[in-house]
Amino acid sequence: MSTDRPDHPYDGNFLHEALQYVAAKTNNAKCPFCGNTNWTYENEGGVLVPVPKVAYVPMSNRAFFGPAPAIPVITLTCTECGFVRHHNLPMVKTRIDGSNG
Ligand SMILES: [Zn+2]
Repeated sequence: MSTDRPDHPYDGNFLHEALQYVAAKTNNAKCPFCGNTNWTYENEGGVLVPVPKVAYVPMSNRAFFGPAPAIPVITLTCTECGFVRHHNLPMVKTRIDGSNG
């Protein structure tokens, strides 16, 4: 796995693949609050295709010297009401790796 991004270990190829995997699994998923089926994501561009930014869900509210325990995620936002959903990147990677092996 490339470490071309200093703030997380996921390279652009994986993030693009993860977004495609989540999109295929949740195709036409309705927002639980407004029923909209259109979702968007924060992206950081990319050489060939836009890739989603990585966000972190903290697992503790304690102060840490250094990185606090957190779940790396990509987020999808409902284009109507702004509801944000998270997809756990280590879990998505496990599924993608499993389907490739
Ligand atoms: Zn919504």
